[in-house]
Amino acid sequence: MKTLKRSLPGRKLLLTGVLAALALTKPAAAEERAKDLFGARKLPAVATPQSFGFYSKGCFAGGVAIPMDGMHWEVMRPSRNRRWGHPAMIALIEKLSRDAAADGWPGLLIGDISQPRGGPMLTGHASHQIGLDADIWLTPMPDRKFSTEERENISATLMVDEKTHLVKDGLWMPMHTRLLKRAASYPEIERILVNPGIKKKLCDTVTGDRSWLRKMRPFWGHDYHFHMRIGCQPGSPDCKPQADTTPGDGCDKSLAWWFTEEPWRPNKNPDAPKARDLMTMANLPRQCQFVLDAPDPASAEAVTYHGDGVPVAAADPPLQPASAPAPTITSGATALPASVNAFAPTPKIGIPLPRPRPGN
Ligand SMILES: [Zn+2]
Repeated sequence: MKTLKRSLPGRKLLLTGVLAALALTKPAAAEERAKDLFGARKLPAVATPQSFGFYSKGCFAGGVAIPMDGMHWEVMRPSRNRRWGHPAMIALIEKLSRDAAADGWPGLLIGDISQPRGGPMLTGHASHQIGLDADIWLTPMPDRKFSTEERENISATLMVDEKTHLVKDGLWMPMHTRLLKRAASYPEIERILVNPGIKKKLCDTVTGDRSWLRKMRPFWGHDYHFHMRIGCQPGSPDCKPQADTTPGDGCDKSLAWWFTEEPWRPNKNPDAPKARDLMTMANLPRQCQFVLDAPDPASAEAVTYHGDGVPVAAADPPLQPASAPAPTITSGATALPASVNAFAPTPKIGIPLPRPRPGN
């Protein structure tokens, strides 16, 4: 013991020296991949809710978690810790779960939303970085709670035949259509990504009001879940909106393209690094460094949104002066401030060019 005590001051000095050396290597640390830095954060940035940057290049502060279970939802793949989002997103998922249940969909199985502070993910998605994207399975919730192990391992139902790119016979039910229609009915939802086969199924079968098909956007993957995206929220002046969807139901040439060979050609450069593998903090909006450095809340529970009138994160200080007041959460059904429907029609753009095939 004596020896140890005597040697402590020396060790302290040594440690200080090591720390100083580490500090000198800061420029190297700045080259750290953003996905490693954001992927390591277990809790959100305590701040007024605010999104920075774009869906595929950004981060967000003031995130809240959706509880693991609700009356009409269960969170899947909990180990990924991606049940975080902008409060408006979380409130909307909870609202969808109630409305969908009233429509006859037993409940939502919730896939990835965002990491606690958003940012690029260690695996998977290019988007989901600013708390405004959420994946919902096309498999209805069973009438029991899944165990943690089941949530990690149970497979979703693949709805689409990989060869024909058409929805498999017998799998699509009217309640799937009703669920998507309900989600698309919310003004906050700007677009919903589905597999081209699912888009085609809707095009071929939806009668009556077809206006909501405009929001249903065909995209690779999305054959066991749909991906819903809300617009930039009030209080996020540095959130970059996406281009509007084009007018019309999209059941046209742009859909027909998906049933040609072109979109499915093998990737010419499969080993090219993905954006998330290259992104450093320098590639993200500068505020993302503050988001990364902001303090943790006391616990995940302290920032879990229960839609029960408990104000979450509302009293937190702004990360930086926001140009508009942050939304205040009041109660479940009325959680979204009236101004949240502020998705003014964005300017018309030309015929959408199909996006290049993603690397994975
Ligand atoms: Zn998604």
